[in-house]
Amino acid sequence: MLEKPSVVLMDDLAEGVFAASGCWSGLVASPQDLDGGGYHVFEIHLTHSKEVEHISTACTITLAFTGAVIDAYAENGWSCSVNGSTVTVTRPSHANAYKSGEEVTYKVWAKSVDEATTKALSCSITSYDCSKQTNVQGGGADGN
Ligand SMILES: [Zn+2]
Repeated sequence: MLEKPSVVLMDDLAEGVFAASGCWSGLVASPQDLDGGGYHVFEIHLTHSKEVEHISTACTITLAFTGAVIDAYAENGWSCSVNGSTVTVTRPSHANAYKSGEEVTYKVWAKSVDEATTKALSCSITSYDCSKQTNVQGGGADGN
């Protein structure tokens, strides 16, 4: 009978902010609660850890909203999908994020069922996914 090893390292707990992805962390700001098009404007700030060695080709985040989202879009036409109160955005990177601590800021627009609900929307990032490319030294295949 195989038993799945269960190892929890204290270092991992201390670096809880990176736990979701191993490398990306972030926060959300709300610079405008209603724009001319009836959307609530959110600003996403992401930082790639300097502690890992790989090239990141994209970062996909999941945003959990406090209310239903009927439409959303991201800066530069990046992939943005809506499912109830969950929005998933993929921000592609230039292949230069090798151990760079890259910082990314972009906007996401979200609209709810009416103006009042749209204004009241807030959201938080619930998951990060780093798309990786193996670097020339052969790193990056370690899950970091
Ligand atoms: Zn990464």
